[in-house]
Amino acid sequence: KNNDLKTEIVVLGGGPGGYTAAFRAADLGKQVVLIERYPVIGGVCLNVGCIPSKALLHIAQVIHEAEEFGNNGITFGKPKIDLDKVRSWKAGVTKTLNDGLAGLAKQRKVTVVYGLGKFTSANTISVAANDGSTTSVQFDQAIIAVGSHPTKIPTFPYGDPRLMDSTDALELKQIPKKLLIVGGGIIGLEMATVYHALGSEISVVELMDQIIPGCDKDLIRPLHNRIKKQYKNIWLETKVSSIQAQAKGLKVSFDRADSIPASGIHTIPGDKGKDAPESEVFDSVLVAVGRQPNGLTIGADLAGVNVDERGFITVDKQQRTNIKNIFAIGDVVGNPMLAHKATHEGKVAAEVAAGHKAAFDALTIPSVAYTDPEIAWMGLTEIQAKQQGIEYDKAAFPWAASGRSLSIGRKEGITKLICEKGTGRVLGAGIVGTNAGELIAEAVLALEMGADAEDVGLTIHPHPTLSETLGFAAEMIIGTITDIY
Ligand code: FAD
Repeated sequence: KNNDLKTEIVVLGGGPGGYTAAFRAADLGKQVVLIERYPVIGGVCLNVGCIPSKALLHIAQVIHEAEEFGNNGITFGKPKIDLDKVRSWKAGVTKTLNDGLAGLAKQRKVTVVYGLGKFTSANTISVAANDGSTTSVQFDQAIIAVGSHPTKIPTFPYGDPRLMDSTDALELKQIPKKLLIVGGGIIGLEMATVYHALGSEISVVELMDQIIPGCDKDLIRPLHNRIKKQYKNIWLETKVSSIQAQAKGLKVSFDRADSIPASGIHTIPGDKGKDAPESEVFDSVLVAVGRQPNGLTIGADLAGVNVDERGFITVDKQQRTNIKNIFAIGDVVGNPMLAHKATHEGKVAAEVAAGHKAAFDALTIPSVAYTDPEIAWMGLTEIQAKQQGIEYDKAAFPWAASGRSLSIGRKEGITKLICEKGTGRVLGAGIVGTNAGELIAEAVLALEMGADAEDVGLTIHPHPTLSETLGFAAEMIIGTITDIY
């Protein structure tokens, strides 16, 4: 049977970047084929990333809130965890969205081809389906959206089910008694939050001198202080030198990391001296040390598309690769590896491919750690301002002075605003606290609109809300709030 297809635009990869590009191109009147190797659309984000992790994090939040409110007069019993039901609830959330995407593809007459796609030239992709059949797709233009996969450390005993990556961890096969998280970045700490709430004893090991490297330390501190009490260990500047599979667990050996910070100063107190042991046995280890782009696996050379040795594909502001009719978007084009970057780039690529004028010109891509408390930041960080010698005014409004924060039983948050010295123009913001991920959106809009501290400070925010804290931080900069009580 001849399955061969001919199309105006082919999109390789059905993650948030790919399906967004496919839908946009179809909406602009283009004939579109979308190729996805798994039998569902949605990519890492929907199937093994953003969405299932947030579903499980919500469970963690419910458990913690119920526990902590015991101090304030409402006591619940110890939670009973039915893992099968938790898993099927998570799967239900994902399936609803998978089905929604399949419907959106159908409505737009996007042809979805399931199978592993590889370029065979700058105008053809060959797709190998699970049943052994192949389809050749001939195209005028292509959008590469093949995403990324978890970084593996070659010497670790992969294949042992007790050694997990984020995909395994989200499956929630069991709740290990003693869990080590290798990597104190966003993904590692989100999974730590989930497993801690479900009853695991958590240890975190991080190479750098702080958790969530790259984020300003003042924003990290409230999270660090809270999890320090909840978790068994947080080992900074420490690396895992080996993991050996043993009958009763995974034996992990630790080393001091060579990379002591240039300053030699540990600005987060309390962990210096609390060094990791030489080795310790864990029931399970989750490795969350970053992600690698999938650019080296798609026959890009046969299309003439340049891929660097790590697997990233370089693109211009219109998402075009070095080959004129081939675009690339999402995790495979570089950091930050975030779904909202991928979707935004997907729209740009589809519009350019459809002959419209478009370019990626976002001023900032916000980052959010959905830990408890959440941390969100956008625009310039203080670390960057200092590195780049930018003069700035800063205000940090403490949530201990927010009525709303106190009335939800939490007060450790901070809302920080960074403005250009002299003009007051918003350059950056960072928020740590409940719902920080929702709250950062206002700051992103302020930056995109070129707002200054007065614009934000004189905007009436509803009372009592956490959103007021951004207004208050701006008022601290313009001088209309001087006293915090
Ligand atoms: P992907 O989502 O990786 O999609 C690529 C698709 O291409 C996949 O479906 C893959 O199967 C397919 N594919 C690859 N190669 C081929 C081929 N040769 N042929 C056919 N198909 C192929 N980001 C956020 O913004 N917010 C979050 O809260 C968040 N949480 C995360 C939590 C976890 C645990 C993880 C792992 C990631 C998280 N991310 C989050 C990151 C986010 O998932 C990615 O940035 C996003 O999925 C990237 O989208 P993409 O379209 O570039 O690629």
